[in-house]
Amino acid sequence: MGHPRVASVLKGAAARPTGTYLFVGSPGVGKRNAARVFAAALVCPEACGECNTCRRVLAGLHPDVTILQPEGYTFPVEVLRATAQAASQSPIEAEHRVFIIQEADRIPERSQNALLKALEEPNPSVVWVLLAHALQPFLPTILSRCQIVDFPPIGEEAMLELLQSRFDLPADECHRLVRMSRGDLNAAVRLASDPATAEVRDRAIAVAANPHMSVVEALDAADAAKAFAGSARERMERQQAAELSRLEEVSGKDGQGAWKKKLADRNKRTLRREETEVLIDFLSWMGAAYRDLAAASAGSGTESLIAFDHAAAIVQAAPGRPTKFWVDMIEHCLDAQLALRNNANPALAVESLLLRMV
Ligand SMILES: [Zn+2]
Repeated sequence: MGHPRVASVLKGAAARPTGTYLFVGSPGVGKRNAARVFAAALVCPEACGECNTCRRVLAGLHPDVTILQPEGYTFPVEVLRATAQAASQSPIEAEHRVFIIQEADRIPERSQNALLKALEEPNPSVVWVLLAHALQPFLPTILSRCQIVDFPPIGEEAMLELLQSRFDLPADECHRLVRMSRGDLNAAVRLASDPATAEVRDRAIAVAANPHMSVVEALDAADAAKAFAGSARERMERQQAAELSRLEEVSGKDGQGAWKKKLADRNKRTLRREETEVLIDFLSWMGAAYRDLAAASAGSGTESLIAFDHAAAIVQAAPGRPTKFWVDMIEHCLDAQLALRNNANPALAVESLLLRMV
């Protein structure tokens, strides 16, 4: 897991679990994995990580382990109510029931009360695990029920080690990836494992570094972004099909109906989100390039460029527009990302951003 201190806290907690845990840390520090491993330790009598029980937990398909994800980028209050209701029931197979809520900091403040009662008067066999980037979106009444487990950020050294141990890449390539991803381990892993990510990044930077964009070019760029999202969806569909057949092998015939339905629902949400995430990624690489363009246009040197491997294009494009234009584009980029997270029509959000460059 890469966090010896977190691991020892959770080992102790698995032996004597109490109520509600809140895992807090930046994206990519390993909260999700830790939550599943923790759940497996609670549900499997041997905490072995290998048996049928553990494998179903790790795949998110054990009947006593519920994993909640945002729908799009929020949690409908009905879903939270239904979850609180489910938490009053006894476990089906194991000694404990575990409810993991991913990205729990996306639960709107007004909906947090739907969970409060379940957390206040906990069913002794139930363990909640909330995962969040920050504490500040939570009501004090929720926080006071939680045991907070801090996941410290991963330093550049640890990121390098992790990349080198997981991927067969030369040291200087790993260095490059760490620099490109600016401390976000998820981004570094995506760049290392999936050549399409580097392609998305290169295209996004090239699109941003164009001071004289025509309407046709803007629409082409929007199509390219959509095509990236489409192929990410197809890759994910293939992964899902492979996972399904693997699970069919492991679990034989028993109880297939229930978990298959659960898996199908989860897969559908994952697909929609995967497409949106690729577009958000595209926009966020563009935003970083606009930041570089604004800096270069204001006369700063190339040594601090984020898109350091596109320095020549940035330096050439920057004087083509006033600094204020590039600064405004950073803003528009952030707005478009926010709109996508709030379920805006993806095609329109990207197109209208790109047409601002014309
Ligand atoms: Zn096990």
